[in-house]
Amino acid sequence: MTTRALFREDAYLTHCDAAITAIDEQGIHLDQTVFYPLGGGQAGDAGTLTLADGTHIAIADTRKAKFEGATPDDAVHVPAADQDELLARLSVGDRVTATLDWARRYRHMRLHTASHLMCAVLPYPVDGCSITIDYARLDFATVEPIERELVEARLAELVGGAHSVATEWITDEEMQQRPELVRTMSVKPPMGLGRVRLLRIEGIDLQPCGGTHVRNTQEIGALRVAKLEKKSARTRRLVLEFA
Ligand SMILES: [Zn+2]
Repeated sequence: MTTRALFREDAYLTHCDAAITAIDEQGIHLDQTVFYPLGGGQAGDAGTLTLADGTHIAIADTRKAKFEGATPDDAVHVPAADQDELLARLSVGDRVTATLDWARRYRHMRLHTASHLMCAVLPYPVDGCSITIDYARLDFATVEPIERELVEARLAELVGGAHSVATEWITDEEMQQRPELVRTMSVKPPMGLGRVRLLRIEGIDLQPCGGTHVRNTQEIGALRVAKLEKKSARTRRLVLEFA
């Protein structure tokens, strides 16, 4: 049931053809997909699967598939509620076109890339991260005061700097030898595939990440710090929203 994760090579793919490899209580498994499964703090994708006869199945979410021997790339497409009649028509081997809710995903990509920039704005370990369609929430392990205006100004500078964003790959062994690359305490690098994907924002940030990102920081657009609070004695929570 291995899924080829096309979004890891090109996050801008909005649709792909695929074959159904399994249908179970988790949802619909495909041989390849453009849908990103919830992980690394980033929400799962939504969209539609279109059958050869034109029938649309609404997909509400995408999760990592759970089965013996599953890899981090194995995804399962979770159908929206009340589609039992449509789902009953599906068979293993059927060809479908998987189409993303691109507007939603592109917001994830912009906010996710912004969360990488935040690691450069605030040089503290990240102790939690959540990227949704409306906001990016980051918890920084620090007792230092954080100035909202300074954060917004520095972030705007990095966004406006039009820095290129690209992925690189290193082996699991190389990753183990470079623990300093890991910035997020709560998210382990996606290991187990023999290689680890690094996200490089030219001149700003380099860290392991399996998520989806924009190609240039300028695409992020204007953001504001919507919330800044003390989450615990040693953690500061920051929420970014589109301005
Ligand atoms: Zn990332």
